[in-house]
Amino acid sequence: MTSGSKTYEAALERLNVYIKAHNMRRSVVREMILEQVMALPQPFTAEQLVKACAAERISVGSVYNVLSVFIDAQLIHAIQRQRGQTATEYELTTVAQNCIQMICGKCRRATTIHDKAIEHLIATRKYSNFNPHHYTLFIYGECKHCRQALLTKKAL
Ligand SMILES: [Zn+2]
Repeated sequence: MTSGSKTYEAALERLNVYIKAHNMRRSVVREMILEQVMALPQPFTAEQLVKACAAERISVGSVYNVLSVFIDAQLIHAIQRQRGQTATEYELTTVAQNCIQMICGKCRRATTIHDKAIEHLIATRKYSNFNPHHYTLFIYGECKHCRQALLTKKAL
C-alpha cells in the first residue's frame, strides 16, 4: 500500500471507535473493504470499489452496506457531482482530523459540529501518561427532526 500503513491504522481505529459507539460487531469483510478503499486512487466511484472487492470475493451487497457505514463514520465522503457526471465519487476524509459528532439515537443520523470551546479544551489538555494525536467525540441525543416529530405527535 502506497498510502502507508500508519494511515490505515488511524482509519481502522476511527472505524473501531464508531463500531463500538454504535454497538456493532467488528467484521473482517469491513476491514478488507477499508483496505481496498485506501488502496484505490482518490476519488473513486462505488463501481471501482465493487470491482476491487470482487477480486477479494466480497459481494456487491457488502460493498454498498459498508460504504454507507464508512460515510456515516466519516471515513469517506461523497463529492458533489459535476454536471454530466453519472456516478457519485467518494474520497477519504483525512483520518487524523479531529471531529465532534452528534448522533441521533432515533434516526441514527450523525452530524459533525464545530464547538470552539470544546476543541480548544481538548487541544490544550495535557495528560501525564498519554500523548493525544487526534480524537472523535460522539454526543448522543435527539436531532431537530426527530424532536419535532415527537412534539407534533404529543400535540395531537
Ligand atoms: Zn433523528
